[in-house]
Order: sequence, then C-alpha cells, then structure tokens
Amino acid sequence: MLLIFAAVVIAVTGMVFTALDRVGQYANHLDEERSRQAVSGAIRTFEDQLAATLHDYAAWDDAADHLYRKQDLDWVVRNFGKMTQNSTLYDVAIIMDPSGRVITAHADGDPVGAGLEGYVTPDVWYLLNRIRNGGADEYPELTGFTQTNDGTAAFGIGLIRMKSGERVAFGNDRRYVLFMRHLKQSVLQRLSGAYVLPGLQLETPEAGRSHRVDIVSPTGRTVAALAWMPRQPGDISLAQVRPLVWCAVAMVAIYFVLLFVSGSQALSRLAADEAAAIRLSLTDRLSGLVNRSGLFVRLSEMVNMARAAEEDVALLYLDLDGFKEVNDAYGHATGDQLIRSVSAGLSVLVGEDAVLARLGGDEFAIGIMSRHVSDSANMLARRIQSFLGEPLSIGERIAVIGCSIGIAVSPRGSVSGEEILRRADMAMYRAKEEGRGRCCVFDEAMDVEREERNRLEIDLRRAIEQNEIMVAFQPVVDAQRLTLRGVEALARWTRPGYGPVRPDVFIPVAERTGLIDQLGLCVLRIACEALVRWPDLTLAVNVSPGQFRDPSFVGRVADLLRETGTDPSRVTLEMTETYFIQNPARARDTLDRLKAIGVKIALDDFGAGFSSVGYLRQFGFDRMKIDRSLVSAADEGGRAVDMLQATVALARSLDIPVTAEGIENDAQAAALRIAGCDQLQGYLFGKPMPACEIDSLRARTSLARLSGMA
Ligand code: C2E
Ligand code: CA
Ligand code: CA
Repeated sequence: MLLIFAAVVIAVTGMVFTALDRVGQYANHLDEERSRQAVSGAIRTFEDQLAATLHDYAAWDDAADHLYRKQDLDWVVRNFGKMTQNSTLYDVAIIMDPSGRVITAHADGDPVGAGLEGYVTPDVWYLLNRIRNGGADEYPELTGFTQTNDGTAAFGIGLIRMKSGERVAFGNDRRYVLFMRHLKQSVLQRLSGAYVLPGLQLETPEAGRSHRVDIVSPTGRTVAALAWMPRQPGDISLAQVRPLVWCAVAMVAIYFVLLFVSGSQALSRLAADEAAAIRLSLTDRLSGLVNRSGLFVRLSEMVNMARAAEEDVALLYLDLDGFKEVNDAYGHATGDQLIRSVSAGLSVLVGEDAVLARLGGDEFAIGIMSRHVSDSANMLARRIQSFLGEPLSIGERIAVIGCSIGIAVSPRGSVSGEEILRRADMAMYRAKEEGRGRCCVFDEAMDVEREERNRLEIDLRRAIEQNEIMVAFQPVVDAQRLTLRGVEALARWTRPGYGPVRPDVFIPVAERTGLIDQLGLCVLRIACEALVRWPDLTLAVNVSPGQFRDPSFVGRVADLLRETGTDPSRVTLEMTETYFIQNPARARDTLDRLKAIGVKIALDDFGAGFSSVGYLRQFGFDRMKIDRSLVSAADEGGRAVDMLQATVALARSLDIPVTAEGIENDAQAAALRIAGCDQLQGYLFGKPMPACEIDSLRARTSLARLSGMA
C-alpha cells in the first residue's frame, strides 16, 4: 500500500517538474526572442538615427550654398567637422568628392590626419559607388555598418544638396558627406538600459556566442555582433517555484503517509473488532464458556492436533438432571444462577487443557485429549458426578441436581469433531434413559437402535392417527370368591410388517415423543366404550407421568367420561410413583382434581422401584397394586414373604385395598389372599384379551374353573 502511495507521489512529482521545466523553457525561449528582436531593433534604430541625421545635414540649403557657391571650407569645418566632438549624433564626419578624395575629415572634433584609410573602408567605397551611380534615387543617401579602426560603426553617405530636392544647384560639383557613429561602450550601456538587455556588448564575428545578433555590412560581411547575457526568466521562476513545489510534494507525501497510517490503524481496529465479534459469536453469554459453534471450532482443532500427536480425543456430553425442576419451581433467574455456578465449578474441575462448552439449556460438553483418554474421561465423569451430587447453594436456596453423562472417543483423531459430539449426545441420551445420574459410553449399536427407534416412532405416530391401537382387557378377580370384578385396559399395537410390539417398547417411545397424551386418551375411550357392555365390571386404565403433566389432562378425562356415558366411580387410573417423587406439589394438585371428577387413583407397580408406603398416605391413593416382581419373589419364601405381608398389612391399616398383580399359580393366589389382597390379577385368571373374550367370560358364573381352583 505504502509502495503504491510512494509510486503515486513520485509520478506526480515527476509530472509537475516536467511541466514546470517546459514552462521554464518556453519562458526562456520567449525572452530570447524578445531580446533578439530588441537587439535587432536597437541596431536598426541606431542606423536609422544616423540616417535621419545624415538627411538633415546632407539636404541642407546653407551647406550647399557654402560648399558649392561660396566654397567656404571653414564654414563646412565648423558645421560638420567640429560637430563630431562630444556629439550623440555622429563622431566622424568626412567630406569627399565623387572620386573619393577627402576634402575635410574630422573625428571626435579633431581633424583626421594619418589613418584616414581606417575610416574609408570598402563598405564606404561600396555605398559611395552606389550613390554615384544613382543606386539611391530618391534620396542620394545610404547607410550601413562597417568596421573602422575605432570599432564598429554605423555610417551613412549622402550627397550634399539643396533641401528643395534639386540635386545640385551649383554646377556639376558634387560633394558627399560621410557620417559615422561608433558603437562605443557608452552607447552600448544606454542601449542595454533602454532595451533591458543585460551584458550587452560587441563581439567579433568569430566569437561563437548563441545569444547575439550579427551586424552585417552593406557588402554582406558580418562586421561584428551584439551579444547579451540571456536572463533565462524561466530558470529564474523555476528556481523560485521549485522549493514551493518540493514543499507541496512533501506535504502530499506526508498526507499520504498520514492517510496510510490512519488507514492501517482503522484497518487493524476493524480487524480487532471483527476478531472480537467472532469471539463473541463463539461464546455463550450466560456462562462465558464457548457455545456450540465455539465447541465445533475448538473440537475440530483438537481432533487435528490429536491426529498429529497420535493421541485420542474424548468428549463428555453432560445434561443436568434436575434443572427443569429448579427452573419451574424457582424461576429463570435462579435457573441462570444455577447454570453460572455449575459452569464455574466445571471450569475448575476440567482444568486448563480441556475445552468446556455450554451447548444451551442445561447441556454442557467437555473435550479432552490424551494417550489414555478413556481412563481420563471416566475419571473426569466420576468427579463431575460427585461434584454435582453435592447440594449446590444458589442464592438463598439449596438445590440438588445430578447429571447424566455420555462419552464418545475419537481414537487418534479418526472421528470428526461433529461426529463425536453426535455420538456423545447419543450416549448421554442412553444414560438418561437408564435413569438419572448415569454415565454411558457410546457404542455403535446405539446408532442402530436410534435408527430403529426413529422408524418405530414414525410408525407409532401413524398408528395412533389411523386408530390402529387396540386395547386388550385383563381380568381382575375377587380374591375371595374368584369372580370377575373388573378389567385392566392394556394397549396393543400390531406394527405393519413387524407383528405385535410390546407395550414395554412402544409406551416409552410414546412417552418420550409426547405421543402418549393421544395414545392414553385413545385407550381410555376404547375401554370406556367397551365398559358400556359390562355394567357389573370396574375399569382400570394406565396413565403415564407425561399425561399427568399435561394441564388439560383432567378436563379431557372428564369430557371423555361424559361423552361415553361412563360412571367415573367405576374407573381407576393407575399411576407409578415416579411423577409423585419428581413433582409432588403438582402431582398432588392433579390428583385432587381427578378425584373431584369422581375417578379413583391406584398406585401401580408397588415394590418395583423405591416405593414407599408413605406416598399412599400422603396422596390419598384409592388402591395399591403390588408388582409382579414382589409376588414372584415371595415364591422363594424368607424375607420377601415377610416384606410382602408387611406391605399389604400396612396398606390395609390405612384402609387402602390392595390388588396383587402377576398371579401365575394357585400358591401365589392363596398366599396373597391370605396376606390380605382383595383383588387378584394374573395369567392364572386370564391373560389380557380382546373385549369379545371378556364377554364370554362374563357369561360364566364363576372363574373358579378358569383358575383351576374349583
Ligand atoms: P402394568 O400396568 O403393570 O400392566 C400389567 C402388565 O403385566 C401387562 O403387561 C400384563 O400383560 C402383564 N401381566 C399380567 N399378569 C401377568 C402374569 O401373570 N404374568 C406375567 N408374566 N405378566 C403378567 P403389558 O400389557 O405388556 O404392559 C406392560 C406395561 O405397559 C404395563 O404394565 C403398563 O405400565 C404399560 N401399559 C400398557 N398399556 C398402557 C396404556 O394404555 N397406557 C399406559 N400409560 N401404559 C400402558
Ligand atoms: Ca397397570
Ligand atoms: Ca402394574
């Protein structure tokens, strides 16, 4: 850039000086011409003046009278010869006859003796001859320049005559006057001043000065030259202008330099702004960590480095477990504070060399690089989980949040940054599915599974929309009399091209994708419609936590019951405790509203998880269902039997009736009846079956034969 500026300045400078030079040369040339014309003019004027003087003296009546008639030479000497002294008109006066014989001759006031030939030069002879031969008709006078012993002179020869024009009034006598005027130093000085021609001087013809005008004699001989000192006004003005131009050039150069400096400053400022903008675009505002885009950049750098250094890269994908609840319960400001505290804690844990990013919401990612990266990653995961397992204080509150972690590895940088992020995400997803606070390492099978799950989800959505979901009914019998008391509605789906899909498989998919709301209501509607045919039976329908969370759930259930004309008191909704643990306040609220419309609520799968009888009391469940796993464990006897009995006893002491699920044999049926269950359910009494089979079942008086206990 600076080079371009320099080139421009040099080019402009060159052009300006060339132009100035031309102007200067032209001015010099003009002055030269003027001087030449002036000198020529001066020479001509000098000659003309002499010609005028000659005419005055030659055509003069008195002179003719005294010369021709009175032959008074004294008069002639007085009026011609003596006048040569200190005269500005002429300094030599010679009177001659036609043969060239000199009659009188004076120079500078004195008579000329010897050296007369010095004045009567060949030029003089030449003009005299021309006059004598009538070569100068009108005025018998001629002038020219010649070289005398005294120097260069203008001279003129004229016939002395009457003014009237008569050539000669007095016989045939002819007298000629020769005037000379020398170009003396004083004359030259005067000319030099008058014509502004410094250093004007005479030169010999041989001197080869260029600034001169030749003085040529009538015979065409150069007798001398007038030379002058050229003033070169162009050079003078150029000399005056040059410093100014240099000043201007310097200023332009300085201007360009300043322009360049300020320009490059502005450029570097722009570059800095751009860098800051990029940095900002790669940073998460809330936590100050890098964001998703920033992670991509840093991760691909890390993968490249790992490839070069032959090391492995691992990515930990973190998702906080309790974040949504904190946000819901305490508001976004507290949620933000939580994110900041977690970010700060993680920064300390992961150390300087790792890349720590917040991917948005409550998700974080950590990239690390080392030779034994799997060990490092697992160790880091454990440390993070124990850190997040501790209660965190957020302002005045204390919250316990765990985290699920997915890990993916790029061995020797063979997996791209984007891909390990995807894999770690998938592993994290799996960790979440397996329950909170888990850590899961990616393996290829997860991809296949995910793919399959996606296809399953698409098919399930279509099945719900096209009413392909069927409902099976499983008999629930009276524990004492073994008569049919009710049914549990269970969703059934036959996937086109695959056959029946177990609810354990498609219900979780529906829950995760939000399809469960639709699916649950769909099962409830079909079941209620079937119930119309079985006025003596009760109906149990399963409800997922996802449905419970939906604020419009209670209203929809009420509408549905009304539309199908179902007595709400005949319907029991079965719930697992998960939601009650997670969100007790809201669960309680929903539960109360459901009870208000008249339906009953059962606590399902008791004994399968961390069930606590405390919930029964706290939430006021209408029934408890003992899980199949507890029932089958009791087969083995010992502690499990005691626990089963204690649990049923406790529920009964709270006046809560108990159903035993998964009864497969008579022994189990007997044991649970004795333990105090009032209702039994299981393959022993009937597998889930189509509604038509319930119809035929009802037709029989007792189910005893069915169970083989008659
Ligand atoms: P659940 O509510 O505990 O349902 C009882 C499950 O135990 C049913 O499995 C049933 O077929 C099975 N079962 C009953 N008696 C026996 C027995 O004697 N032996 C054995 N081995 N199993 C027995 P299913 O139909 O596969 O349902 C599994 C789970 O899917 C249900 O467990 C329930 O949690 C869920 N589910 C089914 N339908 C729905 C629905 O419409 N909505 C919701 N939210 N969940 C549903
Ligand atoms: Ca159930
Ligand atoms: Ca159950």
